[in-house]
Amino acid sequence: MTAKIIDGKALAQDTRQEIKQRVSQISKNQRVPCLAVVLVGENPASAVYVRNKIKACEEVGIKSLFEKLPAETSEKDLLSCIDRLNKDDTVDGILVQLPLPKQISEQKVIEAIRVDKDVDGFHLINVGALASGLDGFRPCTPSGVMRMLESINYPLSGKHALVIGRSNIVGKPMALMLLEKNATVTIAHSKTVNLKELAKSSDIIVVATGRQKTLTADMVKPDAVVIDVGINRDAQGKLCGDVDTEAVMQIAGHITPVPGGVGPMTIAMLLVNTLQAYERKFKD
Ligand code: NAD
Repeated sequence: MTAKIIDGKALAQDTRQEIKQRVSQISKNQRVPCLAVVLVGENPASAVYVRNKIKACEEVGIKSLFEKLPAETSEKDLLSCIDRLNKDDTVDGILVQLPLPKQISEQKVIEAIRVDKDVDGFHLINVGALASGLDGFRPCTPSGVMRMLESINYPLSGKHALVIGRSNIVGKPMALMLLEKNATVTIAHSKTVNLKELAKSSDIIVVATGRQKTLTADMVKPDAVVIDVGINRDAQGKLCGDVDTEAVMQIAGHITPVPGGVGPMTIAMLLVNTLQAYERKFKD
């Protein structure tokens, strides 16, 4: 048996198409939504992510505002840039690309973004809302994973879900979203001692470690759903995830590829959150 592929690229394309139609409707009698993207420094990976996010905005008709600041920008200067964007009524969402240079406190910057413009869902109020099951912006990567699970109509209730990785941007919010859908959730991390045993008993496994082959075929139970969040480069420089995809495919029921899986969904969910920020503003 070979696992069915959950095609993140196609699903993201559908999501983008829906957003494009909505933005096109809006543009007939109102200004279009606007996302401000802030990049500090020259980190090449960050530059690629930012470029992709801006391109995705353009494709669906969302306006983007690119604020590029030099690597030596002080925390004070970045905070005043955010303050200006917070006060700008024509800006609906603000995204500050992480990581930031070490002279700047990421937490301070995240907390400076207005909660109703925090389309990354990293502000403490949005984190708290997710933890309490309340409305708020939810981080894009785990939201994208939830859409992927919905797309296969996977009944999460009562299922054992294992999340490998406990970062604030992926692992922890992922676990909360699965819990909200009544899965029985286990979070594993670098200090977990019985990862194989936990994985073997899981119906759904989300891997977000940033380590190639964290999940191998001998750890997966037949028919499990495997979601690969990782983005790595193998010895040949090719993009790969955290899962030994070829081998796991022979055992799992569903699997997400890298590239073309969670990555495109993350960007699509950023567009969803930006549209939501805009629509909430006009609802009030
Ligand atoms: P992180 O480095 O902040 O966290 C990694 C987590 O994995 C930690 O909690 C650590 O305890 C755990 N871990 C590390 N090695 C482990 C092991 N051998 N066994 C069990 N747990 C282990 O990383 P992150 O920001 O959560 O990102 C994880 C991966 O996902 C990275 O490859 C990143 O590039 C990727 N990512 C992809 C997207 C996307 O859109 N596809 C978005 C965000 C992150």
